Amino acid sequence: MKTKNILLTFALSMAATAAMANDRTDKLQTYVLDAPYEVTPVSVPEKAKRPKNVILMIGDGMSLMHVYTAWTANRGKLFLTESNPHVGLAKTLCANRLITDSGAGGSFLATGVMTRYHSVGVDAEGNPVPSLVDFAADRNMGTGMSFTCRIWDATPSDFNCHQVDRDEEYAVCADYAKCRMDYVLGAGYDKMINREDGRNIMKELEARGYHTAYSWPDAQKLETLPIFALTEPHDTPLPKDRGDRLAQTTIKGLDLLKAQSSKSTPKSERKNGFFFMCEGSQLDDYGHFNELPLLMEEMHDFDKTIGAVLEWAARDGETLVVVTADHETGGLTLVGGELAKGEVQCKFSTTDHSGIMVPVYAFGPGASTFDGIYTQGDVNKKIKELLSK
Ligand SMILES: [Zn+2]
Repeated sequence: MKTKNILLTFALSMAATAAMANDRTDKLQTYVLDAPYEVTPVSVPEKAKRPKNVILMIGDGMSLMHVYTAWTANRGKLFLTESNPHVGLAKTLCANRLITDSGAGGSFLATGVMTRYHSVGVDAEGNPVPSLVDFAADRNMGTGMSFTCRIWDATPSDFNCHQVDRDEEYAVCADYAKCRMDYVLGAGYDKMINREDGRNIMKELEARGYHTAYSWPDAQKLETLPIFALTEPHDTPLPKDRGDRLAQTTIKGLDLLKAQSSKSTPKSERKNGFFFMCEGSQLDDYGHFNELPLLMEEMHDFDKTIGAVLEWAARDGETLVVVTADHETGGLTLVGGELAKGEVQCKFSTTDHSGIMVPVYAFGPGASTFDGIYTQGDVNKKIKELLSK
């Protein structure tokens, strides 16, 4: 019942929701994680000279405060913090505003080019710029992404689309017709198929050879690349209803992309490693809604996905994992609680984004490159430099 109520709440207009969330801003909220999960720290080997594969994981709206609050709620452990990462801080610069968004912030990560608020995959003048997906595809590397939001949301679009305003959602969806990824598994088929221009972007992708699915059970059956599966009309369900789907989706993509670059694949079809983007998409939503319990559920789901990815990378030995964020959401502050009980007491200061450097955690070959303070564009450049070695 509670879940239904929350879903109904989220179905209201953004204006109404923002008004409701405003009532929560500044109020003390308490959350206790009743069932903490086990964390066995993962050691990802760094000895390979260069990474063959790169996995970029983006917690949308995830600041150091989100990480520390989630760490406290899980009784002082997270895969992210306990697995001995190299750590840096990235400045979140936007061309025309102090406080960035997932369009400009994610595009700075995706393309290395600073751009304007709400832009995806274009420079500050509106010209299309190539992303890490183009960089990888041009080098005959495999590419993939997993996410829990609708595909026209900013972060997936930063890597595949070129629009001055992310709110041009039908134009953003149309850009996916030219998608260069081998593996796309997330949500949001509505604006791909129900369109005033009469186009069906999913059918256009099928015509290009993509294997598609429109539900989670059907997506699980797909085993041959290229895959383009969107399992819900809009976002995926809440964490407790979707289970470990983000981890499953991500590991499946990594396995398929690794097989595609293995020696058992015929030389004509073989790829040289891969680039993969995984997004913990809805941290941002619950930051906007000032919803501490759901924010923590998304944080712990993202951390468990990070744990599964680190274990995969540790077994592989040639994979760099970089975990970062596009910006902070909610102005979250941990003001009290009790570590032994997994209790956190928090306040939010805004229903929008705030200005702060975002943490960068790196594991595996080339991870030490990410020590220090730099811009989000430098995260992009460091990845390209490592793959160019
Ligand atoms: Zn946001």
